[in-house]
Amino acid sequence: MRVLVTGGAGYIGSAVTRGLAAAGHEVVVLDNLITGHRAAVPVGVPFALVDTRNTSEMCRTMQTYRIEAVVHLAAISQVGTSVREPRLYFDNNVRGALSLLDAMLDAGVGKIVFSSTAAVYGDPDQCPIVESAATRPKSPYGDTKLFIEAVLARYGEAYGLAHTSLRYFNAAGALADAGEDHRPETHLIPLVLQAVLGTAPPITVFGEDYPTHDGTCVRDYVHVADLARAHVLALDALSTGGRVYNLGCGGGFTVREVLASAGRVTGRTVPVVFGARRDGDAAELIASSTLIGQDLGWKPAHPALDDIVASAWEWAQTHPNGYPD
Ligand code: UDP
Repeated sequence: MRVLVTGGAGYIGSAVTRGLAAAGHEVVVLDNLITGHRAAVPVGVPFALVDTRNTSEMCRTMQTYRIEAVVHLAAISQVGTSVREPRLYFDNNVRGALSLLDAMLDAGVGKIVFSSTAAVYGDPDQCPIVESAATRPKSPYGDTKLFIEAVLARYGEAYGLAHTSLRYFNAAGALADAGEDHRPETHLIPLVLQAVLGTAPPITVFGEDYPTHDGTCVRDYVHVADLARAHVLALDALSTGGRVYNLGCGGGFTVREVLASAGRVTGRTVPVVFGARRDGDAAELIASSTLIGQDLGWKPAHPALDDIVASAWEWAQTHPNGYPD
């Protein structure tokens, strides 16, 4: 299939681009490069420098490349920032997605895989979280993703749009040639490894008074290569019925456990300080990924935390300054 990957120059998007290309799809990457990196797009993959809010340019790009399906990852994605700057999030993530959907309808593109998030659940009543659990986002970021899921459901009914939303838990790890390079970096694992390398200050643990077994937040870390494979499977199975799948490994690790893993993997001391809670953080987010396993046969190939951290450590050491651009 000819597939447009929006946000394909970003961390997850660049892994998805590689996964789709390896599965035989013809991939075109579209990105505004505000947070993405041109160098993250593999050589030979056509690249369009377009903002998703520019509907006519989006439509033109789809027509030029005779796109048949879209994987939409272009978004801004920091829970904490979204609480302080909600307008940025509604503009980028909601206006951007509505514009993309307009362009798809105008260009006659009827298939989309949408990048959603565990943040739609807020503080869940129960872990592991199943897809039918209540959705009560605690942050504007979660609001934006949940709203677009609802839009997709309506567009499926009204316009026959085939759609699947993938609710990522904590994307982590790296491929040999594609890893995490956010500027500024806010995610736990890369920051921990930068602290180990001495290129970032000691890691601040955000809160040690959560109702978890060691007081720090629990997250379900899923290797970015496993996320990428889920997109390939979701694309192949798209239907107008619309589906929503969680993507996690089904196990949770506290921040302290991540620090311990980083210590084991690097063989070095992790410099740590303890700080206040971060706005918008849920205490515990663990996925049930049973549904996507049953429907699409997805199963994480790299569920072990140390393997995930080791791949991120490899990337951190080989790319201490991230991408060259
Ligand atoms: N975290 C932390 N210090 C940091 C960054 C993150 O303690 O400098 C914690 C954060 O509170 C959360 C977990 O690590 O419990 C994962 O955060 P991250 O930002 O990587 O992903 P998120 O869960 O927000 O998607």
